[in-house]
Order: sequence, then C-alpha cells, then structure tokens
Amino acid sequence: MDSILGHYYGLENCSFKTLEGYDSINFKVTTNSGTFVLKKYPYAKKTLAILQAEDAVASKLLQIQHLHFPKSIPTVENLSFAIAGDFIYRLLPFIEGEFLAEVAKDDKLQRSFGASLAHIDKTLEGHFSAVISAKETLWDLKHFPNNSQYLEAIPDPKDQNLVRYFFLQFQEHIIPIQHVLRKSVIHNDANDWNILTTNGEVTGVIDFGDMCHSWLINELAIGLTYIMMGEEHPLAIATTVVSAYNQVLPLQKVELDALYYLIAARLCTSVCNSAHTKKQKPDSDYITISEQPAWDLLRKWLRINPILAKDEFRIVCNFKETEKHTVAHQLQRRNKTISSALSLSYSKPIQMSRSAFQFMYDTDGNTILDAYNNIMQVGHCHPRVVKAGQTTMARLNTNTRYVYEELLSYSEKLLSKFPSQLNKVFFVNSGSAASDLAMRIAKNHTRKKKVMVLEHGYHGNTQNGIDISHYKYNHKGGKGKAEYILQTPMPKVYGSGFDTELTAGIYYSDLTKKQITEEHGNIAAFIAEPIVGCGGQVPLAKNYLKEVYPKIREQGGICISDEVQVGFGRLGSHFWGYEMYEVVPDMVILGKPMGNGHPIGAVVTTSEIAHSFDNGMEFFSSFGGNPVSCAIGEAVLDVIEEDQLQAHALEVGTYLKNQLMTLKEDYSAIGDVRGSGLFLGVEMIRTDGSPDTDLAQTIKNNLRENLILVSTDGPYDNVLKIKPPLYFNKSNSRELIDQLEIILNKTIKIDNFKQIN
Ligand code: PMP
Repeated sequence: MDSILGHYYGLENCSFKTLEGYDSINFKVTTNSGTFVLKKYPYAKKTLAILQAEDAVASKLLQIQHLHFPKSIPTVENLSFAIAGDFIYRLLPFIEGEFLAEVAKDDKLQRSFGASLAHIDKTLEGHFSAVISAKETLWDLKHFPNNSQYLEAIPDPKDQNLVRYFFLQFQEHIIPIQHVLRKSVIHNDANDWNILTTNGEVTGVIDFGDMCHSWLINELAIGLTYIMMGEEHPLAIATTVVSAYNQVLPLQKVELDALYYLIAARLCTSVCNSAHTKKQKPDSDYITISEQPAWDLLRKWLRINPILAKDEFRIVCNFKETEKHTVAHQLQRRNKTISSALSLSYSKPIQMSRSAFQFMYDTDGNTILDAYNNIMQVGHCHPRVVKAGQTTMARLNTNTRYVYEELLSYSEKLLSKFPSQLNKVFFVNSGSAASDLAMRIAKNHTRKKKVMVLEHGYHGNTQNGIDISHYKYNHKGGKGKAEYILQTPMPKVYGSGFDTELTAGIYYSDLTKKQITEEHGNIAAFIAEPIVGCGGQVPLAKNYLKEVYPKIREQGGICISDEVQVGFGRLGSHFWGYEMYEVVPDMVILGKPMGNGHPIGAVVTTSEIAHSFDNGMEFFSSFGGNPVSCAIGEAVLDVIEEDQLQAHALEVGTYLKNQLMTLKEDYSAIGDVRGSGLFLGVEMIRTDGSPDTDLAQTIKNNLRENLILVSTDGPYDNVLKIKPPLYFNKSNSRELIDQLEIILNKTIKIDNFKQIN
C-alpha cells in the first residue's frame, strides 16, 4: 500500500486503518500532508467506468457550497485512478464530521438532512450518464419486486409475510404510477453512515457506490428510512424532512402519495438483503448493521395509516389532503340503498378504508387494533391469501361440474384435518348455506324431522338457519320456536349455580338426555357450537357432548358441530372445537375463517351420510368449490400451518386470558373470563352479580374511541367478545389490557362519584 501511495500519489510515511466497505477494500490513510481514504477495487472495465461516472457526479456536486463530497484526488500523472496489478486504486479526501448515525437527530438536523438531499438532487437534475442509467441494482427501488427472491431467507414466516404484504402494496400502489414518477440520477443510499454532520448540520455525503438513475422520490424514501430508525415518532420526523426537501426542490403530489409505500419498500429491501447476506456470510456485522432497526421501523410503519402519512406529506408541501366523504354523508347514502335491518357497530360508526393483519385503517387516518374479527383468521389482507385469490382468478374460475386441481387439492388438505371417518366435503359460500345444507342432509339421511338446538345458539340467516337459531327466533322480531325444533339449555358453568364444570355437565346432559328420550326417536340432528359465540363465548360444560352425542345417535339422529366461529386453530389447544370435548361429530359445518374473508363455507361428513344424500337429486352450488375459493381456502390452511398460528393462538391466548384473570381479581365488575386460545369472553356484572349490559357497552364504545375493536354478545349483551385475527400478539394483548384497565378505572370512579352524590 505504501508503494502505491508513494508511487502514484507522492505520499510518504503513511499510516493505515481499515475501514468498512461494501464492494471495495477501504483504508483510512494518515500522512503529514493530510488524511485520505484509499479504496481498492478488483480491476474491471465496468468498475472503472462506474468510478469515472461517480467522479463526474462528485465534480458537479462540489458546486454546493456547504457540503463536502468525495471526488478522486488525481495521481501524480494527473489520472483519476491508479491501476496496478489487478486492482484499481482511488484516493479520496477524508471528509471530517460525525456520522448521522452517531448524533441526536433534532429538528435542525432533520431539516438540514432534507435540504441537503434536495440540494444534491437539484444539482443532479438533468445529469446524464449512460453508465449510471445502465446500472441495475436490487437497491434501486424501481427494481424492488426483484428482492422477493430473498424472501425465503427471512427465518420467521410471519416476518416474511409482513414483507410480502408490502410487495403486494407496491404492485397495487406504485407499479401503476411508475411512468409518471420523475426520474433522475440519485445518490440512492443516504443512510446514516453515509451522511456526515458538523455542529448539528449535514456537511458531507459519502459513498456514491449505489448511485443509479431512478425515481427522484426514492432519494427521500431511502434517506427517511434511516433517519427514522429507532425514533419514537417516525412520521413526525419524516414530515419535517419532507418539508425541508420540498423547500429546496418542490415535490409533486404523486411523489408524496407514493412515499409511504416506497419507504416500506426500502425497509423491505433492507431486511430481505440482510436475511440473504446472513445466510451467505453469517459473520458479517457490517452488512446487517441496520437489520433490527429496519424490522422495528417496518413494524412501526405498518401501524401508521397510509392515508395519514399521505395527508401529512401533502400538507407540509402545501397540497390539499385527500378528499374523503364524511361518515354522516356516507350514512345518508347507505340509508338510501341499504335496509336498516342491517345494523352498524358502535354509536359512532367507523368508515374503513384499508387493513393489514391485525390492523384496520379508517378514512380519518386512524389505525385501529382489531381484537374482534375472527373471519380474518390469518390476518387482514394476508398476502399469501390475497395472492392465491388474484392468481387463480386471473387463470380459471368455473364450477364443480368440471375437473380441476384446486378442488381436489383443497378437499384433500381440508379433510386431512379431520379424523378418517369425516371424509366427504360439500362446498358452499357461507356458514348459513352450510348449516342450511346440513339440515337437508341430516333430515334426508335420518328420515326424521326434529332438530335439537342449544338456547342462545346461532347458525345462520336462511329460513332453516333462523329456525335452528334460538338467538334469532327467540329474540326481537323472532317468530318463536318452530314446531320441529327442540331447544335445550346452554350447558354453561358460570352463572349456572354449579360449582364445578363436572356437576354442571351432569346436570345439563341429564336434562338434555331426558328431552331426547321424551322425543321417542324423532330427532334428525343435534347441532351445537363447541363454544357458544352468540351465547356469550360459553364453553360447553364438561362431558356434556360426551353424554349427549351417543344419546342422539342411539335414537337414530346425527350430531353436528358448528365450527364456523371457533374452527381452524383459533382455540390454540385444538384445531377444531369438538376436539376439546373428546367427541367426533357426524357432521361439521365451516365458514367465516375458512376463506379469511372470502365467502366460502362447507359441510364435512361421513361417506355414509354423504352417500345417502345422493338420492337422484343433483346437489349443485354455482360457486361452492370454485377454483378461486378453493385456492384461497388452501392458502388459509397453508398459512395457519406455516405461520404456526395455532401454536401462536395458544401462546398469545393463554397470555391474554391470564392477564384478563389478573384484571378480574382487581375489578369485581368482571364476573367471568372464559374461552380458549384467541376466542375469549369477559362477562361484565353489577355488584349483585346481575348482568351489566351498560358497562359492557361503555367498555366496547370506549375501546373504540381508543382505537381497539371488540364486540359484545350473550343473552344480556354483557359479554365482551375477543376473537382477533391470529396475528394479534402479546404486545397487542397488553395494549388491550391497559386500555381496559384505564376504562374500568374511569368508569368505576364515575360510578362511585355517582353513588357519593
Ligand atoms: N354459525 C355460526 C356459529 C355463526 O356464528 C355464523 C355467523 N355469525 C353462522 C353460522 C352463519 O355464517 P354466515 O354469516 O357466513 O352465513
């Protein structure tokens, strides 16, 4: 090295220190005549051309008075580089200052950062370099989708899917507008180890190795990701930087609107490449230095409503916010076309615009934690499920009168989740269609007419569905029990007066068995949910099903488990609800979580029952079992397995239930905490033990004000229902508990106050 410096640069008595580098070996060189950086690259014509292009850019940038840039120092022969042996050597001035990564990023520095990037980009406006234009790098956000090749290197499948989600958003939001985004030569890597500061202002920018000809806005997207890392309020920092940039180089609305997803794209590029590099070079700290902060910021970024980000960026650049209809206006429109028989949640209805995993984004810019939606089993807009739907829909959609792979593959996979005797499936489009069909099949098979149902049960909205739903026929607007229905009490433990699950189980099963006996063999089917959702998340008392199922079968009926709410791993301990009670039903109905929001339902039963249904009348459903629905259903099963969501439901559900139990010790208004996995109920009571509907409603509405969704149910509507998408995690559970506690504290204090006065 000494000889290179001496021979080519006339520098003597040098001392060296190795510096970190990406695609070159770098040394800090100290001599009597100054400090330099010497870079050593393996010789290649292409490298030489790129270094020349970098120097041309640096020369241009040196017009910017207050910023320093590394431009090659010529050799004694006035050449830009020294070429010796198989290497290219390049000497650069050592730019003094503290790295952005090492200093506090206050408002002044944020603004200086934004303005500096803008000065660079403004200076490079119109700069043309064929070499730079020809560069293709995975770090160029225009090529972001190519990073998907590294997805599988991310060890945790949930993390992979977070990244997949943003790949999907890129396709939706960026690809369609790419042709209108301004293009320019940009530095393309304003990370905090490439930015130098002095006295709280940016004074230098180094490492132009990632330069490319890309969308101008990417400069800012990239810089922003680094300045936001580790900060509590990333969006506030982003808006400051954007505003400062805009003052020097005005941004376009379309660029600002793209920024949210471009920032996410840069973070995803970073975590994909870190994961890939870690696999290749497990010992390299330098390359993966920002991996953890990038993950942290990516998770934080997901919690920021994209509408909020878009509007904040627009506002600081003097553009109008996105136009939105007020909720009041939308309600007016809704009332014109939608019957008031359809209810709205909350006294203050929410206008939703987007969602992601356990979060929902409203049109006002709020991010709402969803602790309620069990339809979105594997998370809102789970990218694997969305993709399955998109690709299949673009390829083939038809019906079961034809042979296609999706139906076969999905049926096999779904049935593999059941014991061997449950080996036939009928696909329909909803839980209601499934329960309706179940009734037809059961009556046809048994040649009997009566159906036994649990009080407070709900099974569907068809006429059959209403007939078998005590929750409907026995409530407001209901016409009462149909003649062929036998209703039996919900075998609850809490509130039953029995001390143990066992004694409650004996009491209720004896009662039901007596009713069955009295029917003298007329019961076609007994239908129950393993945990009665509409009844207030009530698990069936111990041994109840074990006693009742044989009695139903003895008199020639079949036993149906309605798994519409609880199925598909939500309970944590078991994949299906009936498994909790060590019974196997003759028929199972499925819906809600089955398609993660896509309308699909099914009846699963034995060969014998299915065979008897083939009585000459064709069973046909136009949509049931279509390729798109099957592909989606299969993706849901795959995700549950790959993302280990059943185990996750067990872990998070146990944690949440324990936290709720602890809360119950402190607040006598919580009468009971029950359920399993991420299917929980919290029963609110008054001091005399009677149901406290008002309190449950207050809590539900207050949680909504605090941007958390839960619902209420049960005969007195006094049970908080918690059944979130399975991506809901311990930290989300903590948020829910903390908010619940705040509300309970507040409400109870007000109650005491009322009592005192
Ligand atoms: N069974 C149960 C237990 C349900 O909760 C529901 C819906 N809430 C249904 C059946 C009917 O399903 P769908 O709304 O898909 O028709």
